[in-house]
Amino acid sequence: MNYQYSGHEAWEQDRQHLIHPFSSLAVNKEEGCTVMAGADGVHVSDAEGNRFYDGIGGLWCVNVGYGRTEIIDAIAQQLRELPFYSAFNNLTNKPASALAAKLAQLAPGPLNHVFFGTGGSIANDSAVRMVHHYFNRIGKPYRKKILSRQNAYHGSTHLTIALTGPVYQHGWDGATDLVHYLSAPHSYRRPEGVSEEGFLDFLIQEMEEAILKLGPDNVAAFIAEPIMGAGGVIVPPEGYHKRTWDLCQKYGLFYISDEVVTAFGRLGHMFASYDKFGIQPDIICTAKGISSGYQPLSATIVSDEIFDVISRPDGAFYHGFTYSCHPAACAAGLKNIEILEREGICERVRKTGPIFQRTLKKLEELDLVGEVRGSHFMMCIENVANKATKQLLPAEANVGKRIAQNCQKRGLIVRPLGHLNIMSPPLILNEAQIEEIGDITHKAIVATMDDLT
Ligand code: PLP
Repeated sequence: MNYQYSGHEAWEQDRQHLIHPFSSLAVNKEEGCTVMAGADGVHVSDAEGNRFYDGIGGLWCVNVGYGRTEIIDAIAQQLRELPFYSAFNNLTNKPASALAAKLAQLAPGPLNHVFFGTGGSIANDSAVRMVHHYFNRIGKPYRKKILSRQNAYHGSTHLTIALTGPVYQHGWDGATDLVHYLSAPHSYRRPEGVSEEGFLDFLIQEMEEAILKLGPDNVAAFIAEPIMGAGGVIVPPEGYHKRTWDLCQKYGLFYISDEVVTAFGRLGHMFASYDKFGIQPDIICTAKGISSGYQPLSATIVSDEIFDVISRPDGAFYHGFTYSCHPAACAAGLKNIEILEREGICERVRKTGPIFQRTLKKLEELDLVGEVRGSHFMMCIENVANKATKQLLPAEANVGKRIAQNCQKRGLIVRPLGHLNIMSPPLILNEAQIEEIGDITHKAIVATMDDLT
């Protein structure tokens, strides 16, 4: 039985009717999809009962793993008590208030105010709307431009696809005049002959020049993921965050840290921007790991400075969604954070994450693997045709997809992304499981090398 063609009825209904998020719809129509049907711990299973290591944590999100009855019970209990009620105007609910207070306690410095949404795109969209509203309210309506980066991924609403780097803007034309794209801090792909220090200097100079060219009074904010995720798990050169943050201070830009992937333990801390990279953002955007994916939930956590202006009585900030502050989603978030804290998952990731890194790094001994990069439970394998020149295989070789298929046949889900393979497993993997994942990936890459010759 072909692993792809499982759960036939669902497979066929999907092929006929379902528009998949972020997928090649033509390929889906042609090949169909794997029907996922169950999960436990660090594993998922398909409709035929084949069990896989979940190497992608759902989609960078199931941080505490599957089958957490405490979270399921908290959601069910909340659904029994109050399944839903609006939080518009003067209405609120207990889980949303408690989670906002908890996030204010966990978030660094003056980040004390929380806007809830249902996903990362909404979190980033809301951040930009707040920043724009802030500048309108203080009488600087011209201050609107946002600095982003090539390879960034900030979401898929009309606004956030503009923040997202041009790589994903195929067939779309929209608010690009709002955004100025800087180079990605991609050391592996830096120009030949340039040192890492030289590359960092170039990136900082490029950012300062962009601010000066656009005019500091026209630029509202800089948005950055601490480690770029969907753009290829790009870890910036040491010192990059501090120096970009310094420029924001110098020219009065807000610093928006997109921690949709990196918060809640993935890099061994609740918030990587502050705890790992030592900068104090004005806004932190989170989603995914905030509820470990048990419910759709996001939080845009903003500073006192921004909140004080947008909450002034001389106007109104009209922004919100029916499901902002959803009680069941917030109950899931509260219980998820309780588990992260009680089980010391951040501390655990600080120990097991480097083991995961080292295990995958060994794959660099293979001819196909140009670089294994990332940090803790956020990793990427960059496959190349030639290690010395870093030249890529032709796109038709579908190397990332082939490796993902060869992993899946051997019991592991990894994410293909062009010539890359991305891994972001649940944070509770133990050492034996890490070793097995490394072993499966090794075998899958060797099998792919055989396929390609
Ligand atoms: N920001 C980052 C860094 C992401 O990785 C993602 C999604 O992967 C998003 C934003 C968008 O989140 P969502 O798909 O929940 O809207």
